[in-house]
Amino acid sequence: MHVYDAVIEFIDDTIERSIDSLKELCRIPTVAAKGQGLEETAELVSKMLQEAGLKTQIHETSGAPVVTAILDVGAKRTLMFYDHYDVQPAEPLDLWDSEPFEPEIRDGRLYGRGVADNKGDTVSRIWLIKAFTETKTDLLVNIKFVVEGEEEIGSPHLPEFTKKNAEFLKADGGIWEFGGAGIDGVQEAWLGLKGVFFVELEVERLNKDVHSSTACILPSAAYRLVWALASLKDENNKILIDGFYDDAKTLSVVELEAIEKIDMHETMWRTELGIDEYLMGLSGDALKEAYYNAPTCNICGLTSGYQGKGSMTVLPAKASVKIDFRLVEDMNPNDIHRKLRLHLDRHGFTDVKITYSEGYPAAKTPVDHPFVKIVAKANQRVFGNLRIQVTSPGSGPLYLFKEHVPMVSIGCGDSKSSVHSPNESIILENYRKSIHRLVYVIDEMGHW
Ligand SMILES: [Zn+2]
Repeated sequence: MHVYDAVIEFIDDTIERSIDSLKELCRIPTVAAKGQGLEETAELVSKMLQEAGLKTQIHETSGAPVVTAILDVGAKRTLMFYDHYDVQPAEPLDLWDSEPFEPEIRDGRLYGRGVADNKGDTVSRIWLIKAFTETKTDLLVNIKFVVEGEEEIGSPHLPEFTKKNAEFLKADGGIWEFGGAGIDGVQEAWLGLKGVFFVELEVERLNKDVHSSTACILPSAAYRLVWALASLKDENNKILIDGFYDDAKTLSVVELEAIEKIDMHETMWRTELGIDEYLMGLSGDALKEAYYNAPTCNICGLTSGYQGKGSMTVLPAKASVKIDFRLVEDMNPNDIHRKLRLHLDRHGFTDVKITYSEGYPAAKTPVDHPFVKIVAKANQRVFGNLRIQVTSPGSGPLYLFKEHVPMVSIGCGDSKSSVHSPNESIILENYRKSIHRLVYVIDEMGHW
């Protein structure tokens, strides 16, 4: 009998209880963007961690509290988990097939806002430790948790916590918040995250909306904004801000080798999205390099004037746009902010106001780090091969942990999890197996 058989058995025998815990957590609408339910959820997460045998602490910040937990068994190695208890807003509500904050099981999937991103992973990791505690099985590693409450709004107050608690962040390996099965069902591990720089650009040219007949003599805020936007990027998708690409680090030889092995399932993905080709006709290695290492300048939302039914002849006084830039390693959001201002001024758009709402740099764990191999071995014991992704095209505050702990992102999601979208869900069988995988991460790490 393997030393961890009792732990695996406990996980299987109590899976219903574990899912009930997850449902309980998902019933609280912890929408960070609306400042909803944050304290209450932090309390519940802390209680769940305590019940699993960890010593917890709730750290106040100027925003949502950060929950930490520790179980020091005096082992040589320490494993850390980074999770977040906040979720995205559930809107648009009419596109949900069941209540977003009343989790429901259908065809082996659990539906609800946050089940995949990232309350499911959070509870699975707490349940993992509970399995060790309740079966009185020796843990071969020390355990630490950092669970924040503002990941979905760019973790604006997490630096307050990390600055004060640098010592707590030290660990030999860490499991980041998300991951799961790719489009072909193969499990994926993400080793990095792009940075982000999110801004709102606003133009106000009149002190009120007026009749559109005056467009022959009065300035248009909407056109000013559209012209300013057109100056940011050309039709070849090249970002035209002076010096934008200066610090962008290219992929290393090892990283290029790693992405060479990846099948992006180009055709499958195209069919799923209903497109004939990717941007600029990209395919093969060029498509992969762009996906993993191209910075972006993307319009998230554009607003001006009348957008209701029918026509309304109006010259709107104001126009605004929300833009997110994804940044690759070595690009700095403050630097890009400065360059964006300079660009707009040089092109005569001094009337375009920039509001900088969130930003942080990219970070990565090296492909050849021993902890990556540990996670791959553990995955092999449950799911089979692990696909190593050098970085996610998405963003997260990994840079705050980078110096202290090598992080690998794996989780219980899958390509149909619809994170940030209606009908967010997870496959319950993957949820159970992802807890098993973590048992083996502990096992492999204990023998490192
Ligand atoms: Zn998210």
